[in-house]
Amino acid sequence: MNGGIKALRFRLRDGLCFLGFIMLLGPADQAAAQGSVIRCQLADGFDFPVGKPNADGYYKSRGYWPNGHLGEDWNGRGGGDSDLGAPIYAAARGVVIISENVGVGWGNCIIIRHPYRDETGKVAMVDSLSAHLYQRVVKVGQVVEKGQLVGTMGGNNGMYQVHLHFEMRKNLRIGMNRSQFARDNSNYYSPTDFINKHRVLQTSFQKYPIPTGLFAPYGHSLADAGSDSGAPVKVPVLPKGRPGLPAEGPSADDEDFWSKLRSRLKEGKVIEGTSPP
Ligand SMILES: [Zn+2]
Repeated sequence: MNGGIKALRFRLRDGLCFLGFIMLLGPADQAAAQGSVIRCQLADGFDFPVGKPNADGYYKSRGYWPNGHLGEDWNGRGGGDSDLGAPIYAAARGVVIISENVGVGWGNCIIIRHPYRDETGKVAMVDSLSAHLYQRVVKVGQVVEKGQLVGTMGGNNGMYQVHLHFEMRKNLRIGMNRSQFARDNSNYYSPTDFINKHRVLQTSFQKYPIPTGLFAPYGHSLADAGSDSGAPVKVPVLPKGRPGLPAEGPSADDEDFWSKLRSRLKEGKVIEGTSPP
């Protein structure tokens, strides 16, 4: 009897310790630590994350190209920073797997994992990333529908002119550790191509288990994330001689971007993007 109560007390204490540990971690770490699975129906189609529907009122200011810009930049047609606070939508049904301000060149980021039936009839998953957001209104583990408001457009707290940086990843292990993966079509899709090819998809009431923790937690090595299939991982050659500048976002050879950033740094216009707006 006594022994039973003692064992119960130990179990309770261990449980509270574990709960405390989970509460200390950030949302992305929580998902990775828990390796949780959220059940979700397949996406019934994709649309652009701005200007519902069909990116109405928005234009692509920078396109996707492998080994250069791994996503697309979207701006409002109003020009300047008039699109600050414009709504950002889920591109399709899915589960939020990252909703966090990761600072550096990224700022407020949301990654949604979308299950869908691909051209061959198989159930596949794709991750969509929205970055530099002004606000985030969804939480890790939340199921979102196509066209649901997930956040608003920003410029990473003054680091960039306001725009949405939007990526679609076929490799589900990238998370916020983009520098550890090959910067090409083995890991990424052209967002516009992908969306246009998957406008209407077959779905059903069946729910599928969506893992939320396949990526390495931000700032950790990929080796921490466990094993999983995916595109082959290559160790990238990192650009040299630019310490302190964002490792993510623009490519190393995007001279236009870097020269603009250098002049903004000189003028004192660049603000550290580490605190939430
Ligand atoms: Zn971009």
